Amino acid sequence: MTLTDNLTFAQTVRELSDIDISPYADDSSAINQTSPEFAHEQETDPTLRHLWVKAQTGSSEFSVIEGFLYRKVPVNIPSMHEYALVVHNSKFQSDLIHMAHSNPLSGHQGICKTEQRLAALFYFSKMRKKIKEFVRFCEKCQMTAPKRK
Ligand SMILES: [Zn+2]
Repeated sequence: MTLTDNLTFAQTVRELSDIDISPYADDSSAINQTSPEFAHEQETDPTLRHLWVKAQTGSSEFSVIEGFLYRKVPVNIPSMHEYALVVHNSKFQSDLIHMAHSNPLSGHQGICKTEQRLAALFYFSKMRKKIKEFVRFCEKCQMTAPKRK
């Protein structure tokens, strides 16, 4: 994905994927940041410092494209894009997990499917662990999950 200056993340996500962002479309959500705001946070986040260094020193994994930090999409993830956007903000991360997890047409997705949808567009550390925790505590999934004996 490549971000355009005037679009918010909500718009970018909507354009690039079938992920439903409608519950997050209110102004208070972190995903309504504009691209320059996001770029600034990405650049100044101390936890991403070492990734910027990697990208700037010729890493094949991380790359700076038009001022944004990206990571190569892993080969096992089907994606229309070569690079996934690095997401730093933890509120934004959990919003994205929620969006990838709940599909308005097919219902809530399992861990693998959620990860595939998310990793095709975004990257953050411990993504799989965070998805697992999110799905485990998802109220709707707990209500509909088959009872174990
Ligand atoms: Zn769920």
